[in-house]
Amino acid sequence: MLYLDHAASTALRPEARTAFADVLALGPANPTGAHARAQAVRAALELARERLAGCLGVLPGRVVFTSGGTESDNWAVRAGASRGVVLYSAIEHPAVAVPARASGGIEIPVCRSGVVDLDALEAVLRAHASDAALVSVMAANNETGAVQPLPEIAALVRDICPDCLVHTDGVQAFTKEPIDVGGSGIGALSLSGHKIGGPVGIGAMVLGQEVELEPLLLGGGQERGRRAGTPDAAGASALAAAAVASTHEDWARVGFLRDRLEAGLRAEIDDLVVYGCEAPRLVTHTFIGIPQVPADMAVIACDRAGLAISAGSSCSSGAQGASGTLAAMGADGSGALRLSLGWSTSLDEVDRALDILVDVVLKLRG
Ligand code: PLP
Repeated sequence: MLYLDHAASTALRPEARTAFADVLALGPANPTGAHARAQAVRAALELARERLAGCLGVLPGRVVFTSGGTESDNWAVRAGASRGVVLYSAIEHPAVAVPARASGGIEIPVCRSGVVDLDALEAVLRAHASDAALVSVMAANNETGAVQPLPEIAALVRDICPDCLVHTDGVQAFTKEPIDVGGSGIGALSLSGHKIGGPVGIGAMVLGQEVELEPLLLGGGQERGRRAGTPDAAGASALAAAAVASTHEDWARVGFLRDRLEAGLRAEIDDLVVYGCEAPRLVTHTFIGIPQVPADMAVIACDRAGLAISAGSSCSSGAQGASGTLAAMGADGSGALRLSLGWSTSLDEVDRALDILVDVVLKLRG
């Protein structure tokens, strides 16, 4: 099976697998315990915190381990909503958009390129200068890969609503694009293990200096009272190992493969649309529209031919539907396919995927 669905979940890195196994090998122990084995597991957890913090240039005490991107996003939004109005971009992942909408939050539109409309954000900030508590804009979109102008967003917030917290969902962008927590005005960053070569079910919230969020999970006071629940030391170690490896990845190589794939598709499908290509994009993503080719049919046909891709994001179990990102960009998404590359993608894989996809398109077009 050829796999070009790394934005949904990417291959576990060997470094992450080893780190996970090493912690399990310490034996059963709760890292909050007092005995020697518990302390060994605790040491692994704290080393993971240091390693992850090192990837972002923050102090280890600013890293809180969570169960993944969804928990971190929910936490930021709910903490923001408890203090005032939440502003969120129209292309946020449902992990941000759903709780933000439920709290009565205000959606910020994006331009046709898939990048947040800064004029619209400024107008909403001015209208809510007294009650805005959180601005949440993802670092890069999970479908188009469009990188969002976080420094400009943070500067607007600092000028107009200095007490408002800036949160970014860095689940797709982390290790591929620089994200400056703290210095640039980003107060909270959500991360997820399985998008960077770590396991599913582990993630983190990285808080800027002085930033504290009202906890989402209450209980035993773990993670310095910020996140209750027994910490997953094996998962955290694997996440940190994946983060270090991913930070040193040759992303230019992956970008070359993505561009080769896109160029090959453009050469064979003359009416191909690449959504978000006018914006700066993650090197791993391409989100394409093929007129007269329904995306769900193309996904099934590719799957039968041995190529795993998706139609838009895979945010709900196997669901392939209309893309919220495309709707926000004002585009027709009937033929939108997401092909996403990862650290393990090879040249041969890309070339074979290209052949399959072109063949599928020709057949579906009759
Ligand atoms: N945010 C973005 C941008 C994502 O792409 C995803 C997963 O697809 C999530 C959040 C959710 O992360 P997790 O699967 O770790 O809960």
